[in-house]
Amino acid sequence: MASVFGHAFVAGAVGYSLIPEHSSKKFWTLAVACSVLPDADVLAFKFGIPYHHVLGHRGISHSLAFALAWGLLVTALAYREHFPGPGFWKLTGVFSLITASHGVLDAMTNGGLGIAFFAPFENSRYFLPFSPIQVSPIGVSAFFSEWGLAVLRSEWTWIGLPCVAVVALVFVIRQTRKRWKSTTTG
Ligand SMILES: [Zn+2]
Repeated sequence: MASVFGHAFVAGAVGYSLIPEHSSKKFWTLAVACSVLPDADVLAFKFGIPYHHVLGHRGISHSLAFALAWGLLVTALAYREHFPGPGFWKLTGVFSLITASHGVLDAMTNGGLGIAFFAPFENSRYFLPFSPIQVSPIGVSAFFSEWGLAVLRSEWTWIGLPCVAVVALVFVIRQTRKRWKSTTTG
């Protein structure tokens, strides 16, 4: 896994960039929840399900099919009043994208098994060709260590900074557009 912080950073950048009209507490809570939810699969270890199993860690809950289904479910439960308008499908797309970003970040870490992106149709595990992110330990106590610090440093470089850059860029574009609109209309 990447850490909760790394995943939440991406949720923030995606949400800010794509859904300016829904920047409510509800939206942000759901967005961050979507970004970390796939790691609920660590419970599989407690049930004796091995890591490499499709129901194991980084298995089906990290897949693209799961991200799509989960994004749809979250939107249907939390924003059904928008159904079937474009706002509903946009939110579905964003929640799915944020959920899928979890597996993509994990596939950029340097440890553990790969991600079952195509489960349940094809259960092989994959890493991206570029995997510079220090893998995060499983469990909270292990995180408070040298390892945890190394994870935070690495995630700040490879996730935090790019996310801040994206948010800054989107902010500048929005401000420029607003100013341009007010000068052309006023
Ligand atoms: Zn994960």
